[in-house]
Amino acid sequence: MKNDIITIQKKIGVAADGIIGPQTIRALNNALGITPARKPQWPTQAEVRKGTSCFGRPGNESVLTAIVPPYPLLYEGKPVRSIRVHELVAPHVLAALREVLEHYGQDELHRLGLDVYGGSYNYRASTGGSSLSMHAWGIALDFAPAANGYKVKAPRASLSHRDCRAWWEIWESHGAVSLGRERDYDWMHLQFARLC
Ligand SMILES: [Zn+2]
Repeated sequence: MKNDIITIQKKIGVAADGIIGPQTIRALNNALGITPARKPQWPTQAEVRKGTSCFGRPGNESVLTAIVPPYPLLYEGKPVRSIRVHELVAPHVLAALREVLEHYGQDELHRLGLDVYGGSYNYRASTGGSSLSMHAWGIALDFAPAANGYKVKAPRASLSHRDCRAWWEIWESHGAVSLGRERDYDWMHLQFARLC
């Protein structure tokens, strides 16, 4: 099986490591003329806050769904059994977590602190503001919070480092937005809502 993958990788001109990662999938799609599903267009934060977007009103727990993380995650030092997010973003969260696992492997995710989860659904105001956080709709997630505090900027924020670029590119391919990458604060945070 691995040799078959290496043979294909040589033919399509990507690193022949025998692992089917995002690069191999993209090159395969190109070679076969398959257009990957268009990146989802999520509403803006302002639209979400109006309560009339596809995500509905805040604090509505009936639209949340639990997903089992594909690699071990810790929350405040304890293993995470499942994470609750809005049902519309759940398939993307699961797919992105699978893709980052495929890309990095469990050991590297651990080394980068990407197995430390900081929470998703939470009915609360945004840090340092009075308007509701995207967490109140279950469309935001936090990772590696200890080294990526709200006011910690690049390059101090660990998620701003070069070796985390693939992490962000994978989330962004699902339409998620990084406040760190866009605004250089709250590097722990990603959300399925555009800033403007
Ligand atoms: Zn957050």
